[in-house]
Amino acid sequence: MKRIAIFPGSFDPFTVGHEEIVKRALPLFDKIIIAVGYNSVKHGFFTPEQRINWIAEVFKNEPKIETASYTGLTVDFCKEKNAKYILRGLRTAADFEYERAVGQMNREIYDEIETVFLLTSPQYSMVSSTIVREILRYGGDVSKFIPQGIDGYKDL
Ligand code: ADP
Repeated sequence: MKRIAIFPGSFDPFTVGHEEIVKRALPLFDKIIIAVGYNSVKHGFFTPEQRINWIAEVFKNEPKIETASYTGLTVDFCKEKNAKYILRGLRTAADFEYERAVGQMNREIYDEIETVFLLTSPQYSMVSSTIVREILRYGGDVSKFIPQGIDGYKDL
């Protein structure tokens, strides 16, 4: 059976921290679906389409990567895609506390799902989409925090 993982997130925008987690997870899975989860009521900074296009651009030469968007519960999307693994990155103790609750809850509602956590490399542990958005809002340079190949955010 193929090992399919979903890497769910807001990815608003996708950062070098996200990219690193995906690259390190590649040997573990046959397929990784990077899935932009969004809520139709809550608007993000970038549209889901922009976020997905940028992620697809970063991994255009990686056949094991797919991109998608979804609304609703992550576990329902996992069932739809026949994925038994959820991939998440851990930066801090605060991430751990949050992820622990979500991961345990996900298993409570879908007992075949396993959440796989990778620890961020130290040089990326301060990178967050929230801070990148804040820098963008005030016209700062975020190029160090955004993967190579993405440049549409510069048109803001
Ligand atoms: P969410 O809104 O679901 O938290 P994010 O886009 O903020 O979505 O993050 C998606 C996943 O990527 C989460 O598991 C988060 O902890 C992880 N992540 C975010 N930034 C980094 C980073 N710099 N290094 C490693 N993992 C990260």
